Amino acid sequence: LSDRLSGILDKLTGRGALSESDVNEALREVRRALIEADVALPVVRSFTDKVRVRAVGAEVVKSVTPGQMVVKIVHDQLVEMLGADAEPIDLNAPAPVAIMMVGLQGSGKTTTTAKIARRLATRDKRRVLMASLDTRRPAAQEQLKVLGEQNGIDTLPIVAGQGPVDIARRAIQAARLGGYDVVMLDTAGRIHIDEALMHEMAEIKAATNPHEILLVADALTGQDAVNLATSFDERVGITGIALTRMDGDGRGGAALSMRAVTGKPVKIIGTGEKAEALEDFHPRRIADRILGMGDIVSLVEKAAEAIDAEKAAKMAAKMQKGHFDLEDLAEQLRQMEKLGGMSGVMGMLPGIGKMKKQLDAANLDDKMFKRQIAIIQSMTPEERRKPDILKASRKKRIAAGAGLDVAEVNKLLKMHRQMADMMKLMGKKKGLFGKMMSGL
Ligand code: GDP
Ligand code: MG
Repeated sequence: LSDRLSGILDKLTGRGALSESDVNEALREVRRALIEADVALPVVRSFTDKVRVRAVGAEVVKSVTPGQMVVKIVHDQLVEMLGADAEPIDLNAPAPVAIMMVGLQGSGKTTTTAKIARRLATRDKRRVLMASLDTRRPAAQEQLKVLGEQNGIDTLPIVAGQGPVDIARRAIQAARLGGYDVVMLDTAGRIHIDEALMHEMAEIKAATNPHEILLVADALTGQDAVNLATSFDERVGITGIALTRMDGDGRGGAALSMRAVTGKPVKIIGTGEKAEALEDFHPRRIADRILGMGDIVSLVEKAAEAIDAEKAAKMAAKMQKGHFDLEDLAEQLRQMEKLGGMSGVMGMLPGIGKMKKQLDAANLDDKMFKRQIAIIQSMTPEERRKPDILKASRKKRIAAGAGLDVAEVNKLLKMHRQMADMMKLMGKKKGLFGKMMSGL
């Protein structure tokens, strides 16, 4: 998205305020990105209207392009609509606190019930009882029992022939008598929203007075999200949303749709089939995902602060000529350090999450930059300009000066060679940061 947007907007001449036609043109791309991310149409419309109001006439901050400016306005608006802060599950009520899980069949209610119970038990040290009120699917109660056994969570003993409301009452009673802090009520779903389902949910709610009622929905829910969320909220009254299958390809537009029509927060997300695959909802991350970009916005923000434009330009000129000496490398390393180190930079780029884990594992941390800078500082200016003269004795002296092994010096020199080669290949392009920034 950001590519396309800046493509359009950077053609615009001059700076100053964004005009209505600039913004409208950009919003066509935004609309397309939202629809691709499965955001429901009415929500797309209200969202773009809000952005329009905010963007038209907005001053384009110096040092960013109009394209970057609009990306940021869109992003901020999206975060605002998703809810600026993560809202956790609320247990602030007299025990046993009842949490009722509602949603369509197959949305992930039973799995998420066990995940939440596990987290409350292991992380928050609560005593949790789970009960399946699903008398429709033959093995549903058994499924929860097995999950309970696997995760060390108690489940309400199964009594054949009881209806959902009776089971619910029995669960509350058992939780009270057993001294549980939390009782999780896993309900039955239907393939479609229907009156019978809503009626059943309303009855269970009346019998148990849950403190939280979480609507469990698949992240791939598209245009149905609005109807789904409105129906459950109007008939049952939800307190929050649990979004499952965020490990899939879906971009999670349903989060925006459901939040927008109900005003209820997404409290938790499911990221896999395993019981540990549960995460808090981070609006910024979802906003990035919906827009189809990594955290480019904060990269822009940080970059604007940290990078000295003049230095960058000088270096770019040098690199164009194919020069990249150790002095330049030291400068790059210092800038990387300012940006929060390798992990900070990598974490902000799209699709690098996995690589970042490997980097962390390899311990390529911020200390690495400091060590490398120390090595370069131990060199004479001549050595920095002409690394080729660095033979064994010089390396030894440098290593001693930096308080490190010769192996570290060799590693640095090898990295420098590789980078210098890469720079040549990248050819006449602005340099590492210029390259990164020009992708915006
Ligand atoms: P219910 O009918 O709403 O109770 O749905 P279930 O909890 O039985 O889940 C239906 C299927 O979805 C099961 O195969 C789960 O393993 C799977 N599932 C649930 N949550 C997630 C998730 O976050 N990610 C993935 N990949 N699968 C999930
Ligand atoms: Mg179930």
